[in-house]
Amino acid sequence: MLNPIVIAIPIFGLLIALEAYLVIRENRENFDRKDTWTNIFIGFMSVAWGVLFGLVTSLIYLWGYELAPVKMPMNALWAWVILLFVDDFAYYWFHRFSHEVRFFWNFHVVHHSSNQYNLSVAVRQSWFSGIAHWIFYLPIAFLGFPLWAFAIMHGLNLIYQFWIHTKLVGKIGFLEKILNTPSHHRVHHGVNNDYLDKNYAGIFIVWDRMFRTFIEETETPRYGIIKPINSYNMLWINSHSWFEMFKAVKQKKTLLGKLRCVFGAPAMEFDEKLEKTSVIV
Ligand SMILES: [Zn+2]
Ligand SMILES: [Zn+2]
Repeated sequence: MLNPIVIAIPIFGLLIALEAYLVIRENRENFDRKDTWTNIFIGFMSVAWGVLFGLVTSLIYLWGYELAPVKMPMNALWAWVILLFVDDFAYYWFHRFSHEVRFFWNFHVVHHSSNQYNLSVAVRQSWFSGIAHWIFYLPIAFLGFPLWAFAIMHGLNLIYQFWIHTKLVGKIGFLEKILNTPSHHRVHHGVNNDYLDKNYAGIFIVWDRMFRTFIEETETPRYGIIKPINSYNMLWINSHSWFEMFKAVKQKKTLLGKLRCVFGAPAMEFDEKLEKTSVIV
């Protein structure tokens, strides 16, 4: 199947190199080369894992499409326009759950655990998120969009999100109102108090404005995760959050406590709050 991401890979490579050159030349900051290479290798591996999981999840999608009462005519432009918005809407919720539910965060943390912010971070993606991410896209199959059209649109959505991972682009005028931009996405990667769990958008920032998760970039973001991972080990980067979760599950005495560890918010304070509540109870 035609996957636009495969076509985009060499362009991503060139842009990552160009941005690195500009940052190093202007001596803007300590450029972490090792982190950048780690991001790139994680990116290649995530494409390979994505293909593997895609083989299975495509079958689930095809099953959903068979059940769709109406099939979309993909020779009509309006069908593509609807697909653009539907796919981006599904991305918003997938992304929001990936931050607000620990089970999904365990995958997505990979993307946030670099404490740099540059184009290479865009390709630092979870190897195993294919296990869960189809859940959010299955409704698109039920709406009658064929797999090939979904794959193209979904690929284009992810390609769009590449360029917003940079500090080199400031605010871009009225487009900030409609689109997800480098400024909005810097906020998303920030661990500043006000920036946590904000700006989940893929292409259109309107979803965040609509569901009240939007915040403007006012202060310089601090990048990374609340508890830094401090590792370049790709396997550890992809798995550490699972170990932490299982450790927390083991420590909980009640079933409710255990379930909360898996399906509750992933914030570090969560466990402490829970302990305090259970002491009071
Ligand atoms: Zn995120
Ligand atoms: Zn990002």
